[in-house]
Amino acid sequence: MNRELKSLSVVVPGLNEADTLPLLYDKLVTVLGKGSWQLEIVFVDDGSTDGSAEICEELHRKDPRFQFVSLSRNFGHQRALTAGLDFCTGQAVVAMDADLQDPPEVVLEMIARWQAGVDVVYGKRRSRQGETAFKRATAAAYYRIMRFLSGMPLPADTGDFRLMDRVVVDNLGQLREQGRFMRGLVHWVGFRQEALLYDRHPRAAGTTKYPLVKMLRFAWDGITSFSTMPLRLATWCGFGVFVLALLLIIIYAVRKLVFNDNLVPGWTALFLSVIGFGGLQMFFIGLLGEYVARCFNEVKGRPLYLVRGASLKVPPRPSE
Ligand code: UDP
Ligand code: MG
Repeated sequence: MNRELKSLSVVVPGLNEADTLPLLYDKLVTVLGKGSWQLEIVFVDDGSTDGSAEICEELHRKDPRFQFVSLSRNFGHQRALTAGLDFCTGQAVVAMDADLQDPPEVVLEMIARWQAGVDVVYGKRRSRQGETAFKRATAAAYYRIMRFLSGMPLPADTGDFRLMDRVVVDNLGQLREQGRFMRGLVHWVGFRQEALLYDRHPRAAGTTKYPLVKMLRFAWDGITSFSTMPLRLATWCGFGVFVLALLLIIIYAVRKLVFNDNLVPGWTALFLSVIGFGGLQMFFIGLLGEYVARCFNEVKGRPLYLVRGASLKVPPRPSE
């Protein structure tokens, strides 16, 4: 199969990326603006407060290939990405970060794969420059835990940098859940997916918009939106403790009734088991609460984002 690419969209969510925006624009146009396809850059301003909005308008005036969508406030990376995917019009769509950590040159290779018939080409990091050992280690551990919990072979070392066919983007657009873990959703959609190894660069400018707390929340969203295994683990733990309790009841009943053992000592064991099991129960009730809270959020069915203004027309696609 050899598909011809007529239009390409590059979707970039960004929060306070005024420093990187001009660099990003130059780089994208230099690398991807000369192909046989029509280029469209869709920058989603995720409630920035650093003057990104003015830069967007300026860039759009200068070059109509640069389009933007401004959200009414900060909705978070995953929702901003969703907005960009909803608005873009290309036949193939690339999602990437604003900080040029994902080199646009790699997109050319992704396009070649798409032309050969692959529907999703996701970037897999061969190396991660400019990232701390802590981030690398926690990321590696996370994908392993995630795979174990969800039973879904989510590829390790991949982020949101990928090229998707229009069919995939449209299908993805139908998934409007609140707890969003886009890389998992793309994986869930299916079609023909392939990895492409690349070297991740350090940030071009500015600082990370994902401090540790935000990162942890995102990681937890990923687990709870794709797996109910933590609940099942709680059930199994409860069952184990119950079996243990039954055994102890039998042992102590026999000692008391048959051997007439008077068991006065044992206060320590009693006290420790009360606080131990109390703690375990609280933990599992909390876990249950996490899922209930997620149901609560889904049931409200609020829109995933609100748009303040955009240079593109509001898409007729996924109805909010
Ligand atoms: N981002 C966003 N909204 C947010 C947080 C981040 O749109 O609330 C964007 C950010 O501007 C960048 C991308 O998400 O384009 C990835 O963030 P960043 O590069 O800061 O994360 P890191 O690579 O350090 O994990
Ligand atoms: Mg980054």
